Amino acid sequence: MSGTGVTTRFAPSPTGDIHIGNARTALFSALLARRHGGRFLLRIEDTDRERSRAEHVGALIEDLRWLGLRWDAGPGCGPKGADTVYFQSNRGALYQRYFEDLAAREFAYPCFCTPADLERERTRQRGDAQAPRYSGRCRGLTAGERRERLEREPAALRFAVAGTGTLGFDDLVRGPQTFRVADIGDFVIRRSDGTPAFFFSNAIDDALMNVTHVLRGEDHLANTPRQIMILRALGLPVPHYGHLGLVVDEHGAPLSKRRGDVSLRALRARGYLADAVVNYLARLGRSGIDEGLRDLDDLARGFEEHALARGPARFDERQLHHWQRQALQKIDAAGLWGWLDEETRARVPADQREAFLRMVRGNMSDPVAARQLAHILFSDVFDMAEDAQRAIDTAAERFFCRAVDAVDQCGTDFACLRRVLMDSTGLRGHALFAPLRAAVTGGLEGPEMAQLLPMMGAQRVRERLLRRCHG
Ligand code: GLU
Repeated sequence: MSGTGVTTRFAPSPTGDIHIGNARTALFSALLARRHGGRFLLRIEDTDRERSRAEHVGALIEDLRWLGLRWDAGPGCGPKGADTVYFQSNRGALYQRYFEDLAAREFAYPCFCTPADLERERTRQRGDAQAPRYSGRCRGLTAGERRERLEREPAALRFAVAGTGTLGFDDLVRGPQTFRVADIGDFVIRRSDGTPAFFFSNAIDDALMNVTHVLRGEDHLANTPRQIMILRALGLPVPHYGHLGLVVDEHGAPLSKRRGDVSLRALRARGYLADAVVNYLARLGRSGIDEGLRDLDDLARGFEEHALARGPARFDERQLHHWQRQALQKIDAAGLWGWLDEETRARVPADQREAFLRMVRGNMSDPVAARQLAHILFSDVFDMAEDAQRAIDTAAERFFCRAVDAVDQCGTDFACLRRVLMDSTGLRGHALFAPLRAAVTGGLEGPEMAQLLPMMGAQRVRERLLRRCHG
């Protein structure tokens, strides 16, 4: 695991599906490594046994791969079984050694305070208008008192914050950060159930895995001074930290794993292409990337962590949609065919496949719309939109009968059909096109009629119009 140069990592806790915000962190970390010809690791932070689930691990690996990310070490890499070290749940003995080392050197001490004790303390501090932080009650116990209490009481292990003044670091994204040491109370590094605090194992592993650059959400900023203290006390290297502005939803609230609709999984299920998601994410909170779809190498080339946004970035599906349209222009025919759902593929006649794909590429953004198009073109089961029904109901008298005549005369030649129908009805523009399109396609919008009609065939077009021609 040794190596020089830049090493970055993505370190998800497998407690839910990866959402757009996590995915962006993973992408930026991968791009930063790629930019410097470095290494990118995947580490599973599954120390919270209650909330971590094996199925989430499988899902997140699949999602990251789908996005196109590859890692140089981590789950799913190398020979079978070699990846177990990248699961924190397998690293307990190692953390234990560091706990013991810190305790032996008085950088940490057992704390017997119960949740009720701590709550009382906080209430009192709030009453005195003080910021709540641990008072250090158990720090002053003698060695004898500790030994005696350890025999009969559960204990957490607390880090003994030492020194005064400030602790600072230069954030890769936000620039210089300073914290007052006096504001940081002694903090728990091992809970009384024996499990490590998240930021403890996180810091230890970054150091042991030679991680040089950590990019993560700004919700972790307050952990950083504590992690720096732990690493310094252990004589371990401190990585460069960069805290990204969070990705927020339309109401300004940070995205969470509970918002299923913004998970990578959900976006993929809705037909978004990985290229579209990557290109959207790459620009979320990062400016100055050229227009046009870029691959990971291109995106890595200009990756500049100092230029990342400090403020929140708002998830905007319209933007994602824009990149989806771009990605659909670029995907090859086989890829586009595979993107359609099975029902659609079954419905498209072999000799119409090419024309259908062209139409999809030019007009559609998701497989459901493509399926509807296949129904409109090749079946007689399709929905009638409300506004389309209205256009039919308010069409000029005998409009559809005249349209049938026009089809008899012109077949599916739309230019001819339009001319003939204009002459016979005296109508122009919307009054002419809306009822025609509505009756033939069930909607008022969609691909050019000139392209649709030949694919549908004259007979189908005629039948749909005839159904509206009364008397
Ligand atoms: N397991 C942490 C999380 O999912 C990782 C934090 C970090 O990247 O340092 O939020």
